[in-house]
Amino acid sequence: MKHLLLYFYITTLLIFSNCYISNDNMTINNPKNIILMIGDGMGLSQISAAMYSNGGQLNIEEAKYIGLIKTNSASSIITDSAAGATAFSTGKKTYNRAINMDVDTLPLRPITSLLSNYHIKTGIIATSSVTHATPACFYGNQIDRYHVDEDLADQFLKTNINVLMGGGEDYFNKRSDKRNLIDSLKNKNYVVIDSIIDFYNLSTEKLINFCAPKEPASILNGRGEFLPLATKTGISVLNTNNSHGFFLMIEGSQIDWGGHDMDSDYIISETLDFDLAISAVLEFAKEDKNTLVLITADHETGGYGITGGNTKTNTIHGDFLNDDHTASMVPIYAFGPGAENFIGTYHNTDVYYKILSSFQIKN
Ligand SMILES: [Zn+2]
Repeated sequence: MKHLLLYFYITTLLIFSNCYISNDNMTINNPKNIILMIGDGMGLSQISAAMYSNGGQLNIEEAKYIGLIKTNSASSIITDSAAGATAFSTGKKTYNRAINMDVDTLPLRPITSLLSNYHIKTGIIATSSVTHATPACFYGNQIDRYHVDEDLADQFLKTNINVLMGGGEDYFNKRSDKRNLIDSLKNKNYVVIDSIIDFYNLSTEKLINFCAPKEPASILNGRGEFLPLATKTGISVLNTNNSHGFFLMIEGSQIDWGGHDMDSDYIISETLDFDLAISAVLEFAKEDKNTLVLITADHETGGYGITGGNTKTNTIHGDFLNDDHTASMVPIYAFGPGAENFIGTYHNTDVYYKILSSFQIKN
């Protein structure tokens, strides 16, 4: 009897401390919320270049648990963003250009759809159009990523996602089929705003913000503070009446575009902007104490390398192998409850399973 009481006492303690022993005997602290940040094309050289041009330090360094991700897709040693994001969103490697389709072109369930079954709120923020490969993989299914923006906008309408912010308004209200999906979104109780500045004084649990008709401008061309502001706003919307937790994916989309353009300044300015969003996320996570933050990339772009520079003047000289993605592993940084489970070297697909196990969801 004494033993039984002790057993119940310890079990109760473990349950209430939100802590349990998983099948592989690893102790897990389970977070309530998870924020997955993807720097598209953000390899170690991209992070290093931003760090050196910023006086030798970045906010990302506050995340102390670090791992490496193997990025290859099912069809190629070099992934594209569609297969890379499909791996994060479904746990399956697939062919390049697939939006949540398996190697037999059968649809895979995106993580946001699975999580909504558990009443976990979800959000997507990107500095591309919201129908671009990475954000699309968190809600849509398409055999090929190209020329399907309007179809993806239509697919978004059928989801339970709470927050969507990025470019691509035209795919919702200037469509070839003449339908106005923004009206449809409003009918589904979304607040739709054109400027993130308009958000103040609004109170809603469902928010859409289009920052551009198609692709948003780069930082160098005047995008301004969209990403850090959208990040703060998205978190505050998801954290309103937050009883079951939330999952938010934030993409720094254009780090990759700087790599395709073989433009060091483009890469550095976009990575620094992404690092400001990281700062906003970490500020929330530190205060909240119940949020796991993951910061990673889908692949490296450009075979980018730092071939010169000066730490006194914060200048960088970068060079490129080519204007496309490479197969180098990319880092993953973790902060918050359960961050220790993200150290090591593993495949991009494992990120999905680790997220589910952090939410204590069996797959
Ligand atoms: Zn790319």
